[in-house]
Amino acid sequence: MSLQVLKILSKLYIKSGAVDLGNPRDTLVATLLSARTRDEQVLKVFPAFKKCFPTWKKLAQASLADIERSIKSINYYHTKSRALKSLAQKIITDFHGKVPQTMEELITLPGVGRKTASCVLSYEFNTPAIAVDTHVYRVTRRLGWSNSQKRDDVEKDLQKLIPKKHWNTINRVFVPFGREFCKPQNPRCSTCPIAKYCRYQLKNHSSSRVHQVKSLKFIKRSLSYS
Ligand code: SF4
Repeated sequence: MSLQVLKILSKLYIKSGAVDLGNPRDTLVATLLSARTRDEQVLKVFPAFKKCFPTWKKLAQASLADIERSIKSINYYHTKSRALKSLAQKIITDFHGKVPQTMEELITLPGVGRKTASCVLSYEFNTPAIAVDTHVYRVTRRLGWSNSQKRDDVEKDLQKLIPKKHWNTINRVFVPFGREFCKPQNPRCSTCPIAKYCRYQLKNHSSSRVHQVKSLKFIKRSLSYS
């Protein structure tokens, strides 16, 4: 059933991610910037940011004020600027100026959690990984594929459910699907292409049926008293 869902969504959505910028450095930086920020906003500031800091060395040597100025329209730009500077320094000193290619190494970088690391692994190194962002988290739980509250646990549930060779599909299709259909408020369940596989839809549908039956019973009772 879960593979059928991925198959349906794979036909609908393109293969690349919103902040997959075609190379490990740019994707790492853009994904870090995208935390609690809309991807469109990141993509808007990114060209100017890249022009100011075209190499890890430039970024590592830049003043915090300059980095902040270049990303000041991004949420948490103070914290992200500090993380970016430290990250650039660590990549130079610990990884010879190259973005590391394992989860264990990536999450040692400042500002990099499992979601960011998974995006880099999945999009740039074609290594199986599941990046659980806000859309993947919401869609997975609504489908009934996980009851976990923490993102790391949702990732583990997905890893158990989905064969490894399909892990890289999940973020690619759930993100655009979450934006178009499975929105945080008012999901478009009536036109959803995977509604028949969804626990949320089944639950809501059956509770609205129960409500309808109760209402009908109430009306009938009221009529019989009149
Ligand atoms: S049926 Fe509704 S809640 Fe379920 S996946 Fe589709 S849009 Fe989301």
